[in-house]
Amino acid sequence: MTEIFADAYAHACDAVDPLRHFREEFHLPLHAGGTQAYFVGNSLGLQPKGARAHVEEVLDKWATEAVEGHFTGQAQWMTYHELVRDPLARVVGALPQEVVAMNSLTANLHLMLVGFYRPTRERPLLLMEAGAFPSDRYALESQVRFHGLDPAEALIEVEPDVDGGTFSMAAIERAIAEHGPRLAAIVWPGVQYRTGQAFDLGEITRLGHAAGAVVGFDLAHAVGNLPLQLHDSGADFAVWCHYKYLNSGPGAVAGCFVHERHARTARPRFAGWWGNDAAVRFRMGPEFEPTPGADGWQLSNPPILGLAPLRAALEQFDRATMAALRAKSERLTGYLEQLIDAGLGDILQVVTPREVRQRGCQLSIRVIGGRERGRDLFGFLASRGVLGDWREPDVIRISPVPLYNTHADVLRFAASVREWRDAR
Ligand SMILES: *Cc1c(COP(=O)(O)O)cnc(C)c1O
Repeated sequence: MTEIFADAYAHACDAVDPLRHFREEFHLPLHAGGTQAYFVGNSLGLQPKGARAHVEEVLDKWATEAVEGHFTGQAQWMTYHELVRDPLARVVGALPQEVVAMNSLTANLHLMLVGFYRPTRERPLLLMEAGAFPSDRYALESQVRFHGLDPAEALIEVEPDVDGGTFSMAAIERAIAEHGPRLAAIVWPGVQYRTGQAFDLGEITRLGHAAGAVVGFDLAHAVGNLPLQLHDSGADFAVWCHYKYLNSGPGAVAGCFVHERHARTARPRFAGWWGNDAAVRFRMGPEFEPTPGADGWQLSNPPILGLAPLRAALEQFDRATMAALRAKSERLTGYLEQLIDAGLGDILQVVTPREVRQRGCQLSIRVIGGRERGRDLFGFLASRGVLGDWREPDVIRISPVPLYNTHADVLRFAASVREWRDAR
């Protein structure tokens, strides 16, 4: 047994982790009298203990003040979404007026496409990755149909060219070059949900813009996972959710970025009263004058109860900082990779790129020997309180999250895989 498989090694790493105290700020799911090794923060982040106070504050305000709650105190509901604006801008590397928390991810993707996918006879094409998250594909395909176009012709799905289902930058560049003169827009993931591959947003934007296309990103698996520089990337728009690495609860209010250069855009949009300039909103007149910036894309007065946990989550990101989280994340995921390479290579094969720049915290791990064997291992891990998630036909995704996972968690995964192998 190599040293890295020793409990003492994992504990020593955790003891010098400068972010170790954040774990105590989360509710950890239980298993057999202890806690789970929870690796599914890419699906639903754990609950920050601070979330409850923010939710209760809203409930109390509603109970005691009712409609007046819109206008009283620092956390008044009229401007409640502004409370998350600055910390959210810091997490994604944007100017405050470029971001807004609103709606859900897929709804925001549709709203952005209404404004930014404007096919013409010369440029009808919408380009995305093959094997995208289903909701994104449904959204893009239905947008293409909405314009009276045939997805078989107007929706371009770039096939991965690397074994394991990842993309070389050359493949993306080739696709953009091939379709360039006919491209209206590109929608690409920040981190691909199935493989965990991270992309260079600035480079994809540069290539897309050079070809004359609009470029937008789905950052569902990137936000809170990787340090982002959305403004500097030059992307036209981006959308994401807050229930994965942003720990804001099931179905949490989502996020949206519109680059500053579009702050006063004449692009068409689907409008609602909350996007109207706040100065004139309550005149309740017939004309729509959008608030400059991302706020102008809002439709409705926001679900305050849905926004409340986001305040607690963002406050943690501000204290931890994305730079420190990323440094720990590289160590933690690097440890997982080391354990697999050193002792589990006969069972597990990492699909996620080995290059650190090309991944976040998640490793997508193929179980060698096929689906049945993979399901058996996955079930065994769950029985040991080690929770990843399963992706057909033979992949287990393991996401060590630097805010609450530990080296001991990661070792518990590896030790459980060994236990399974020895018992078979
Ligand atoms: C999680 C995820 C979604 C989920 O969409 P919702 O609208 O939040 O239900 C969509 N797209 C991607 C890429 C995701 O990772």
